[in-house]
Amino acid sequence: MPEQNKPSPTRELFAALEGVIETYTARGCPCGFPRFLQIVSIDCMDMNALFACRETEGLIKLLREHDLYDTQIIEADFQTETEYWTCRTCGSRLLWGWSDAVKKIDRQYLKPVVIQASPLGADPAVPIPLFGGFYGEKLPSSRFWLQVSSAEMAQYLTQLR
Ligand SMILES: [Zn+2]
Repeated sequence: MPEQNKPSPTRELFAALEGVIETYTARGCPCGFPRFLQIVSIDCMDMNALFACRETEGLIKLLREHDLYDTQIIEADFQTETEYWTCRTCGSRLLWGWSDAVKKIDRQYLKPVVIQASPLGADPAVPIPLFGGFYGEKLPSSRFWLQVSSAEMAQYLTQLR
């Protein structure tokens, strides 16, 4: 394939994640997929590191665009924001957070608070198969994730039980 016709990693990542979100909405909502919850809740602060995950950022961006969750601001200032996200389909509640300057990394997370959906998707695994993976100053251990194709990453996220 000529170089200029190759999809950029970002475009390819978003196309794959868009397909993942379509699969979730066709089956109800994302909340029934534990692997989805695993990836959107990745937070470098839990791991004493400084990084962001392209899959985490991409999924959260698409969830907002698709308006799958009702959002309610808890706290917002110039360096951190937090919101409760309530699923419009099943009523599950998640905690969204963002911070940049203080923590030296611009990253978001979406952590489950109360999940109402019955699990439809397969259980999470480690290492996590990721296509976009991590970037930042202090990355997680290579044991934590595995570089795979965008199709394999989408397969991991949509695998049923
Ligand atoms: Zn839901």
